[in-house]
Amino acid sequence: MLTAETLRKALTLFNDKIQVQKDYLSELDTPIGDGDHGNNMARGMTAVMASDLSGDVPDIFKKTAMALIGKVGGASGPLYGTAMMEMGKKSAETTDPATVLEAGIAGIQKRGKAEAGEKTMLDEWIPAVAALKAGSLTEAQVQQFAEDTKELIATKGRASYVGERSKGHIDPGAMSSAYFFESLIEAGV
Ligand code: ADP
Ligand code: MG
Ligand code: MG
Repeated sequence: MLTAETLRKALTLFNDKIQVQKDYLSELDTPIGDGDHGNNMARGMTAVMASDLSGDVPDIFKKTAMALIGKVGGASGPLYGTAMMEMGKKSAETTDPATVLEAGIAGIQKRGKAEAGEKTMLDEWIPAVAALKAGSLTEAQVQQFAEDTKELIATKGRASYVGERSKGHIDPGAMSSAYFFESLIEAGV
C-alpha cells in the first residue's frame, strides 16, 4: 500500500542500499561511463534524507524530487527527479502503486527521450512496473531485470559513446533503480 509511512520507509531503505552499494554503482559506471553514478546517487539520497519528509505522499515525492534534482548532478539527477515529480502528481489522484510508478516512467521518458532496450534505467523500470501491473513483482525479478541490461548495446546516455563495447556490462542506472524497486517491495508499498 502506498502511504506516507511506507513511502518514507522505502526512501530510507533506498538510501541505505545506495550508501552501501555506492562504490559498486560507480564501478559499473566505469567501463561504460564516467565512474560517478554511485557518488551521484549517494549525494542525492543524503540530501533526500536531510530534507523534511513530513506530509502526505505527493509532498514526500515532491521533496524527494527537489533534493535529487538539486544535488545529484549528472544525467541521473534530472531523470530520477522528474520521475519523483511525476509520481508526486499522480499520487494526488490514485494510490495504486503501479499507476503511480507508470507516471514515473513517463517522466523519465519525457526527460530523457529513451525507449525500452536502449540500456538505461528504463530497462529496469519498464519490466518491473509491467510485472507489478500483472500482479506480482519479486526481488529476484528486480535483480534479473538489471542483470538483463548486460546484453544490451547502449544507444542513449554516456554509455552510448562506447557503442558495441557497452555490451557485457550492467547499466548502473538500471542497478540503482533495482535498489529502488527492492526498497518499495521491502517497505510494503
Ligand atoms: P552521467 O552519465 O551524467 O555521469 P550518472 O552516471 O549518474 O550520470 O547516470 C548514468 C545513468 O543514467 C545510466 O546508467 C542510465 O541508466 C541513465 N541514463 C542516461 N541517459 C538516460 C536517458 N536518456 N534515459 C534514461 N536513462 C538514462
Ligand atoms: Mg556517470
Ligand atoms: Mg557524470
